[in-house]
Amino acid sequence: MPASASPTRITVLSGGVGGARFLQGLLHWSAARVEAGGTPAEVTVVANTADDMWVHGLKVCPDLDTVMYTLGGGIDAERGWGRVDETWHAVEELKAYGVEPTWFGLGDRDLATHLVRTQMLEAGYPLSAVTEALCRRWQPGVRLLPMTDDRVETHVAVPDDQAPSGQRVVHFQEYWIRLQAAVPALAVVPVGVEDATPGPGVVEAIEGADLVLLPPSNPIVSVGTILGVPGLGEAVRRTPAPVVGLSPIVGGRHVRGMAQQLLEARGIPVSAAGVGLHYGARPAGHLDGWLVDERDAAEVAALEDGGIRAAAVPLMMTDPVATAAMVQAAVDLAAPRG
Ligand code: GDP
Ligand code: CA
Repeated sequence: MPASASPTRITVLSGGVGGARFLQGLLHWSAARVEAGGTPAEVTVVANTADDMWVHGLKVCPDLDTVMYTLGGGIDAERGWGRVDETWHAVEELKAYGVEPTWFGLGDRDLATHLVRTQMLEAGYPLSAVTEALCRRWQPGVRLLPMTDDRVETHVAVPDDQAPSGQRVVHFQEYWIRLQAAVPALAVVPVGVEDATPGPGVVEAIEGADLVLLPPSNPIVSVGTILGVPGLGEAVRRTPAPVVGLSPIVGGRHVRGMAQQLLEARGIPVSAAGVGLHYGARPAGHLDGWLVDERDAAEVAALEDGGIRAAAVPLMMTDPVATAAMVQAAVDLAAPRG
C-alpha cells in the first residue's frame, strides 16, 4: 500500500451525524498538527445525498446540511441535526392547515437554507454549485461536495398487511423519522443510483488524495450509497491513496441510528468485522485498513484473514479530542511505521 506518513489531501466519504462528528475530530487533528509546526490538512468531503427529500416544495439535504452546520458552528449539538436556537412556527402552521408530511422536522432557521437551495436549483444551478454557495456563509473548513448532482433517493420496503404484496415502500426519511426504524426493513433501494454520475471534483478528490477515509457513517445508506454511484466506488478501489475506515458498529451494535436494521436487511453480520469484510479488501473491495473498537479486538484476526489490515482502538466520538485520536490511529494504520 503506498502511504504518506503525514497526509495532506484527505478525502472523506460522509453521511450526516456520524460523519460530521468524525470531521470535527479530523479538523481538530489538523489544527493540532499546525500547532506542532506541520501543515494543515486539505479536507474534501464527499457527502451522501440519497437521504434528500422534497418537502413542501423544498429540497432538503440532511447529510450535506448536518456536515455544513456542524463544521460551520450552526448545529444544534444536542439533537445532532438542524440549527441551534431553532423555533418551529412554520411547521406548526403547516400542521394547522393539515398539510402532509407533518412528521418531518423543519425548523424556521433551517427553512431559510432550503428556500435558498430550492430557488437556486430552480434557477438551474446544480446541487454542487448550490452547496458551494451555502458554504460561503458557513465556512465549514472543508470542501463539501455532494456525491452526485443527480436525484438519488433511498427507499425502504416495510411490511404492510393492507397491501396486496404485503409490503409498501417509504422514503428513507419516513422509515427513520416517522417509523423510527421500529419495523423491519425488507429491502433498501437507492432509487436512481445506477443512472447517477459523480458530482464535479468527486472522482478527482478520491484519485488525487493522500488518504481516503471512511468515517463510522452508516455502511448501507450513507457510505454504501456513495460507493454505489457508478465510477465512484471504482475510484475508491483504484486510487493510489490508502483507504482506511472506522467501524460504526461497536460491541455488536450501532452507536446511534439504524445501521443494525439495515445490515440485517442485507444479510450482513452486525459486527465490526462484518461491516469491514462487507466493504472488503482492495482492489476487489474498498479497504486497505479498518479500525474496530477495543471491545471488538477479537475481530481483528478475521479482518486480517480477509486481507484487511486492522487494529483495535477506542472508537467513541465523545469529543473532538477523542475523535482526533481515532484519526491519528487511522493515519497510523494507513502508514505503518517500521
Ligand atoms: P446519519 O446520516 O446522520 O445517520 O449519520 P452517518 O451515516 O454519518 O453516521 C451514522 C453512524 O455513525 C451510525 O451507524 C452510528 O453507529 C455511527 N456512530 C455514531 N456515533 C459514533 C461513535 O461515537 N463511534 C462510532 N464508532 N460510531 C458512531
Ligand atoms: Ca443520513
